[in-house]
Amino acid sequence: MSVARPPLRSLDDALAELLGQAQPLAGSETVSTFDADGRVLAQELVAQLQVPPQDNSSMDGYAVRSAEIADEGVVLPVSQRIPAGSAGVPLAPGSVARIFTGAPVPEGADAIVMQEDVEAVGEQTVRILRVPAPGQWIRRSGEDVTRGAVVLARGDRLSAASLGMAAGIGMASLEVARRPRVALFSTGDELVMPGEVPPQQMKPGAIYNSNRFFLSALLRRLGCEVSDHGIVPDRRDATLEALARAAKEHDLILTSGGVSVGEEDHIKPAVEQLGSLDLWQIAMKPGKPFAYGKVAGAHFIGLPGNPVSSFLTFVLLVRPFLLKLQGASVLAPAAMPMRADFDWPRADKRREFLRVHRNGHGGLDLFPNQSSGVLTSAVWADGVVDNAAGQTIAHGDSVPFISFAELLA
Ligand code: AMP
Ligand code: MG
Repeated sequence: MSVARPPLRSLDDALAELLGQAQPLAGSETVSTFDADGRVLAQELVAQLQVPPQDNSSMDGYAVRSAEIADEGVVLPVSQRIPAGSAGVPLAPGSVARIFTGAPVPEGADAIVMQEDVEAVGEQTVRILRVPAPGQWIRRSGEDVTRGAVVLARGDRLSAASLGMAAGIGMASLEVARRPRVALFSTGDELVMPGEVPPQQMKPGAIYNSNRFFLSALLRRLGCEVSDHGIVPDRRDATLEALARAAKEHDLILTSGGVSVGEEDHIKPAVEQLGSLDLWQIAMKPGKPFAYGKVAGAHFIGLPGNPVSSFLTFVLLVRPFLLKLQGASVLAPAAMPMRADFDWPRADKRREFLRVHRNGHGGLDLFPNQSSGVLTSAVWADGVVDNAAGQTIAHGDSVPFISFAELLA
């Protein structure tokens, strides 16, 4: 039986086509700011106040009129005490105010002298040991955020710092894109779930299902609600049944394995029977094959079975797809130039994603086994080199590095 080879696609073309299919999901939800980490903001956050609200002291010390302290050794009375959380009164001329970090600077004062530069003379009198510069140790109102400023935009992915910022302008809850609902299943008669059979009793040919674990973790990190549809045997009827079940109430069906065109690969004919499917050989390594289709209104994405291929096609293709479903504005990870501390003398026809690790000398080390089945490479690595097709690498070359800190977030 001759089997037509699926068309070869560049990764960029495949991504563009995939993103063209990913229209942002309708609907948003309001969640506590505490629970919004990693979610995509569905509203614009405009500051209704200045942060900080008033000029305030950045030191424990004394608020002064700097013009009254032209020389060191000036002695002045302490006319008031302003702890953080209280407001104080205008500073009486010829006096200083005891002040603490975060307390508003009283009207009339234009500098803070830190307490280390002051010595007590009497009960309520101090000697200033150092001449203050006007404005010193004062944090200005609005220095962080000005009233009316857009603090976070619709489509921003919320980080821990942005949750703090949202809280800082008074937001106890946030409107975020709803979670994509993803049905996940693995195909392969060789697969066994860890916990079901102990390692000593694994039958010849059996392997544990690794993909399901990292795919599930990656999906959750991207804000998805994952329903796990288990392992589907390599049979047409079982594949059809699993797909029909998964299409219900899900935005995306994600599978790994079974997308080649061998006679044990049932994904392609099954998806075609229920909907439509494009199968691509993506010109990336590790990678290919990769499938995109539709089953009864749900998106379908079929990843390759080899663990590293599955992992990389997920982070490079499925991740931006899922972010776009949530209306995120930044989809692509940024690459930065880094020095290769290794040689890669044999160029490949395909664009390669080499698993590398930042060493302690500002360069990148290469994992020795770059095979698509060796998941150790992805555990050891902290990112990949995006190596163009036909490109060799010599020690000392600058290469584009994409950190897992970006790709796995
Ligand atoms: P396939 O794409 O189904 O031809 O699988 C390619 C290779 O990946 C085979 O060696 C499979 O055993 C392996 N594989 C497929 N699915 C998984 C999985 N969920 N976990 C670990 N390895 C897998
Ligand atoms: Mg298989």
